[in-house]
Formats: sequence, C-alpha cells, structure tokens
Amino acid sequence: MTVVTATSLDEALDALAGDPSAQLLAGGTDFMVEVSFAHRRPASIVTLRRVDELKGWWRDGDTLVLGAGMTYTELQAEPFLDVVPGLAQAARTVGSPQIRNAGTIGGNIATGSPAGDTLPVLVALDAVIVLQSAADGERRVPWNEFFLGPKRTARRGDELVTAVRVPVVHGRQEYLKVGTRNAMVISVAGVALVMDDDAHTVRVGLGSVGPVPLRAPAAEAFADSTIDWATMTIPDGGAAQFGALVSAAASPIDDQRSTAAYRRHAVGVCARRALQRCLS
Ligand SMILES: Cc1cc2nc3c(=O)[nH]c(=O)nc-3n(C[C@H](O)[C@H](O)[C@H](O)COP(=O)(O)OP(=O)(O)OC[C@H]3O[C@@H](n4cnc5c(N)ncnc54)[C@H](O)[C@@H]3O)c2cc1C
Repeated sequence: MTVVTATSLDEALDALAGDPSAQLLAGGTDFMVEVSFAHRRPASIVTLRRVDELKGWWRDGDTLVLGAGMTYTELQAEPFLDVVPGLAQAARTVGSPQIRNAGTIGGNIATGSPAGDTLPVLVALDAVIVLQSAADGERRVPWNEFFLGPKRTARRGDELVTAVRVPVVHGRQEYLKVGTRNAMVISVAGVALVMDDDAHTVRVGLGSVGPVPLRAPAAEAFADSTIDWATMTIPDGGAAQFGALVSAAASPIDDQRSTAAYRRHAVGVCARRALQRCLS
C-alpha cells in the first residue's frame, strides 16, 4: 500500500491528481471503521492531518470559513462556540472525546451520511462546500447540490473538501439529537434551528429523517410570520404547530436504528423544544 503523508494542500492535490484511486484519510474515524469491516480496501492513501491549509477557521467579510480539518474538539471550544453555537452543540454530541479529538468536519461532510451531526446545522445555515482539485482549482457547491443521497456527494474523486462557508448570523441556535442512549450514539433523528434576529427568520435543518439532510420550508415560513420579533414570543400553540410542520417535512425510513413513525414524531418534538429554547 502507498501512503502519502501530505504536508501542504498542493502536495495532497498533486498526490490525488497523480493517483485518482487514492483515498483521503483525515481523522480516520469513519475510514478506519470501514477498513476494519473490510468495506474499504485502499491501495493508496493520502493523509491530511498535517495539511495546515485545512486547519482552523477565519472570517471573510460576512462569511465564516471553516477549514475541513477542524475537529469536533475545536468546534465545541471557545471562541468558536460563541460564533456558531449550533455547530458547537452538534460537535458535543459526537462520539467520545477520542472521536472528537480526531474526527473532522470535512470528514463528516465528505462521508455524507444523513446521520452526520454537523449536517443539519450546516444546511440550516445554507452552507457552501468548498472543493479543490489540481486540475480545476476551487469550486463552491451549495449544500443542496452537494448531498445527493445516503453517503453520495457531488465531490469528484480528484477533489478535496477544503472548507465550508457559512454566513455570520446573529441569533440563538440549537441542535437537538435523539439516539438510543445519551452518548456515543448515531443519531436516530436530529434537528438544528438557526434564528436570525436581524432578518427575522428561523431556519431548520433535519438529520436522519431522509436520504440527505433536509430543510423544513413550511415550518420556517410559519415561524418567520408567527413569531413576534419585538418580544421574541410566539402565540399559544405556535410552537406545537411549528413542530407538526417540521414532522411533516421529514421523509424517514424504518431501519435497524428506528422506525419512520418514531423519527417523524421525534423531529417534531425536538423542533418544538428547540424553538421554545430559542425564545426563552
Ligand atoms: C465510535 C464512533 C462514534 C461516532 N459518533 C459519531 C456521532 O455521534 N456523530 C457523527 O456525525 N459521526 C460520528 N462518527 C463518525 C465520524 O466520527 C464522523 O463522520 C467524522 O466527522 C469523520 O471525520 P474524519 O476526519 O474522521 O474522516 P475520515 O474517517 O478520515 O474520512 C471519512 C471520509 O471522508 C473522506 N474525507 C475526509 N476528509 C476529507 C476531505 N478533506 N476532503 C475529501 N474527502 C475527505 C475520506 O476519504 C473518507 O471517505 C463516529 C465514529 C466512531 C468510530
């Protein structure tokens, strides 16, 4: 097996261009599980942990750029947790400290599992995925064109996910996840809420209730027009109606982790609670 330990973005891109069958290894928390179960047999690997250009986050005008190599530990830490609290909450629910130290947001995005915990927050934020290849340079793909199906994305084999771009938003954010236990659990259903106090909007991202992460447009429109933005309140019954509209937006299936009916119910309850928390 060939292993290229890339120490720069150019080195990683050149290695991929030279061998399009090479597989990218970031934190290895998805990758190595697949190797252990013989679902993945890489002939060549390009490792990304030493690529400085993928690390950290920065501001680009009204946009935050999060490097693909940001770990969950970094996402949940100061000062980032005050900037995108929804992502910090999602990061806190992932795996164990060991997984959070190794696993990256870029790996979560590239895996493209509908259960990926950062994805509902990213879709609620209207994230744009930044891809780069040696042949074509950079291209930016909106989330709804990037996630194509369960673990299927628009990333080409010669491309790296280098970053994800999200807007700076002022307002409360929540991420609530239901699993079969309290920790070290893959999401059965997940809901992200992003309130924009300036634009007077609520945006909803849903995980594990469809083949790709989903939005809930009818629930968002209802919340936008029903919340009294001056007092940050919603009339009696409004939060419950919001939850029902979120349930209706879900498109879940029965599988080994849960039933479609429970998932639909769970996202509605989580959405109602998340809205109540944001307005409290
Ligand atoms: C015990 C355990 C618990 C877990 N719990 C959770 C959980 O609660 N919630 C959750 O969402 N996930 C969970 N995971 C899954 C995993 O931790 C995440 O999906 C993680 O974000 C993957 O990132 P990574 O850096 O480890 O990626 P890797 O495993 O290195 O790679 C994952 C995939 O992405 C590709 N890839 C990685 N980086 C890039 C890049 N920059 N550009 C292009 N392709 C890339 C790889 O080639 C591979 O196909 C868990 C995993 C384990 C083992």
